[in-house]
Amino acid sequence: MGEVIEKAYAKINLTLDVLFKRDDGYHEVEMIMTSLELADYLSFSKRDDKQILLSAEGGSIPVNEENLCYKAAFLLQQHFGVEYGVNIAINKQIPVAAGLAGGSSDAAATLRGLNTLWELKLSLGELEELGAQIGSDVPFCVRGNTALARGRGEVLELIAPMPSCFVVLAKPKFGFSTARVYDILNLNNIVHPDTTAMIAAIESQDVTQIGALLSNVLANYNKDEIVKIKQVMDASTTQGVLMSGSGPTMYALFSSENQATRLFNSLKGFCDDVYLTKTRMSGKEKSEVSS
Ligand code: ATP
Repeated sequence: MGEVIEKAYAKINLTLDVLFKRDDGYHEVEMIMTSLELADYLSFSKRDDKQILLSAEGGSIPVNEENLCYKAAFLLQQHFGVEYGVNIAINKQIPVAAGLAGGSSDAAATLRGLNTLWELKLSLGELEELGAQIGSDVPFCVRGNTALARGRGEVLELIAPMPSCFVVLAKPKFGFSTARVYDILNLNNIVHPDTTAMIAAIESQDVTQIGALLSNVLANYNKDEIVKIKQVMDASTTQGVLMSGSGPTMYALFSSENQATRLFNSLKGFCDDVYLTKTRMSGKEKSEVSS
């Protein structure tokens, strides 16, 4: 087999709730995530030795054992005694350390891509199980679509697909450390999202109601740049505004492409990292293979 190509889609949180801190140190979460069209592009070509070699363009990420793609490839190699290696080329489009699961999605794409390249014949369920060993968001990214995630994020239930919406993303210059965001969370002082109502709103494809229910207990709007982005987003005719994951990326939802484009243009005036994308219509992730 020649080259295998995979797209690694970004995600946003429509809700993110933290229920309690577990004895194993993880937080028990309940969150609804949905995939976006914004994606990294990965290509995989087989090596006859066992080396895993990475290259990356478009973003500042490690290209060694620290990279989540390396971890995914190494896990499969070890677990199944694979005698091949791989060259992985990553074209980064998703901003890094942004709350959009860019690294997790790259890892999931690596699991799917190498399943094809190395002819492992694993099911998506098996890839999800392996993905949980790499990171909490990796299982969701294996299948994408719209899902309710529980546990530490790895216990998944597919729900109705998110209706088609335009999404404007704005990533402030700085990144947030997920560990630090959890450390400073005060569980006695949070307003929990209404997860059940959000599932119902998605089922009835009611974008206005989805926008009204957007909620993230990790959202922290205490920095000047975030305050400014939020003000501009709130002042636009958006369906709703939220911080995704552990931040700092802010997003606004729109039914209208014109209104989304207007916000996109006004944010570009003062924020370097702005994207206009769409929610991803559900589809089976399939590797593209060239000979
Ligand atoms: P999440 O939403 O799952 O918390 P995130 O979007 O906040 O993730 P990532 O973009 O996944 O954050 O990056 C988190 C860290 O992972 C960064 O410090 C980055 O250096 C590292 N990393 C390792 N591999 C990758 C990769 N392939 N792409 C992006 N980041 C990677």
